[in-house]
Amino acid sequence: MPLKSPFDSIQAWLIDMDGVIYRGAEPLPGAAEFVRTLQQEEQAYLFLTNNATKTPDQSVTRLASMGIHVEVSSIFTSALATAAYLTEHFPPPRCVLVVGGNGIRTAVPQAGFELVTRAEQAELVVSALDQEVTYAQLAEAALAINAGCPWIATNPDPTVPSERGILPGAGSIIAMLAAATGQAPLIIGKPEPGIYDQALALIGANPRETVMLGDRLSTDILGGHRAGINTMCVLTGISGRAEAEAYQPRPDFIIESLPELLAS
Ligand SMILES: [Mg+2]
Repeated sequence: MPLKSPFDSIQAWLIDMDGVIYRGAEPLPGAAEFVRTLQQEEQAYLFLTNNATKTPDQSVTRLASMGIHVEVSSIFTSALATAAYLTEHFPPPRCVLVVGGNGIRTAVPQAGFELVTRAEQAELVVSALDQEVTYAQLAEAALAINAGCPWIATNPDPTVPSERGILPGAGSIIAMLAAATGQAPLIIGKPEPGIYDQALALIGANPRETVMLGDRLSTDILGGHRAGINTMCVLTGISGRAEAEAYQPRPDFIIESLPELLAS
């Protein structure tokens, strides 16, 4: 089914995953058909996620288990964006102390950096969500930041949704390190512009012909707007309709669900 009106001007899609494509382990209605439609219509697309805990390979496997088949190059995470930022601004080899999960722990060494665990060895600190973080790891990061290491954070999301409710996210790790050091990190992920610029470059898209489809106003929609991209808020995740309609900048499109988009 073609993605026509009101999206005639859209040729490229940046797509958030959690709350858009799936919720927890469950695919959302219309997700597989939506992605197949993009592929059939030969629209450019990139999954753009602030989740730095998983590698693109892990995300491809997870999507495949939901009947959604995409290339690993179609997944762009805040972990990859952070590694690219480090490469540009702090070229390797350098020693990086990472507080974070598998996604960032894979992306940083893949970019040529050495992972270290003690503050005294660190030249840079990168923080992300680590769902198994320990006090000792946070203490080393705080010591390194206090010793003057630049501090970069993958993403600001304060929370992550789970089947049981709202859990601490990468922003909660930032809050703890900020309380301990009196400093604030440079943040890479949505809503900061860097990750959108990298994503547009990866798919060769013009911002005016691109839409950011996401469920969180304070990251997906705010960041897309700042990057000059059209924005589409889907109400299957974090944000509700009243909140989306009142938000400034207002999303260019508000849709109830992917089936509504497919029917348009
Ligand atoms: Mg989301």
